Amino acid sequence: IMTESNRLRIAIQKSGRLSTDSQQLLKSCGVKFSINEQRLIAHADNMPIDLLRVRDDDIPGLVMDGVVDLGIIGENVLEEEQIERQTLNKPAEFVKLRQLDFGACRLSLAVPTEFSYADASSLEGLRIATSYPNLLRRFMQQKGISYRDCMLKGSVEVAPRAGLADGICDLVSTGATLEANGLYETEVIYRSMACIIQSTQTQTPSKQALIDRILSRVNGVIRARESKYILLHAPTETLDQIVALLPGAENPTVLPLNDDTNRVAIHAVSTEDLFWDTMEELTALGASSILVMPIEKMMG
Ligand code: ATP
Ligand code: MG
Repeated sequence: IMTESNRLRIAIQKSGRLSTDSQQLLKSCGVKFSINEQRLIAHADNMPIDLLRVRDDDIPGLVMDGVVDLGIIGENVLEEEQIERQTLNKPAEFVKLRQLDFGACRLSLAVPTEFSYADASSLEGLRIATSYPNLLRRFMQQKGISYRDCMLKGSVEVAPRAGLADGICDLVSTGATLEANGLYETEVIYRSMACIIQSTQTQTPSKQALIDRILSRVNGVIRARESKYILLHAPTETLDQIVALLPGAENPTVLPLNDDTNRVAIHAVSTEDLFWDTMEELTALGASSILVMPIEKMMG
């Protein structure tokens, strides 16, 4: 059958806010491919992996139907789909393998600047424009507020000015779009990141092994991106205080310095970025030659 393949299929967004980061993540995992804008599929040339480039809305369905094995998608789209399925008494046939470190946004209620908003009940009986009717309904039901829907797939932020709705429920990251449309954010109803999902259909052992391998590489890439390698020189008498200041560096390496018995070199992997204020505290404790370096890969 055409749709059965021993190559692993991964659905990613074709073009939009998740596409560059999704492609970058896979490249960092060692999957080599080049994208032809005209093509739906990109074949990896060093691994049995095919990338399917589609509208993000199609990704949960493609995964659940088993057309693709993995998908990279916003949790917001996934959660919306899950509630929809629950409502229809259909099972949600996917598992979230892990949250990723990009695609951060929130689904929020927003109203025109002149609207006097106290809490969500200020929207009682009013019309709210959204592309996420299920997430909105769940939130309003929990609050016991009735409202009227205005389902829009796009241009949600212009609905109040166009007289189509009193308020909106839309994705926000910086709030600039809201502001540009004379709206302000009143309530966050869902926080989202991109995530990687797998269909619940049983995989062949070789495909499952490849999925596990990709996932462990994804873990390594994300851990590396969150970590820094720190090198510095420290006076022996403030060594403990200095180590205590390094975020998440549990067992740093301490090395002697040539011709200097009062100072040592410290090498540490820190699980967080080292901020300027911490660097200043370190120098106040006598640390010198502080180097903070990015880590490219991590494993084990
Ligand atoms: P497609 O053509 O694939 O359907 P789209 O217009 O639905 O694209 P985008 O606007 O590219 O989708 O957003 C994709 C995802 O990016 C969102 O579902 C969300 O998870 C995430 N995202 C991050 N920041 C924002 C933001 N400020 N606005 C909208 N989505 C955001
Ligand atoms: Mg979409």
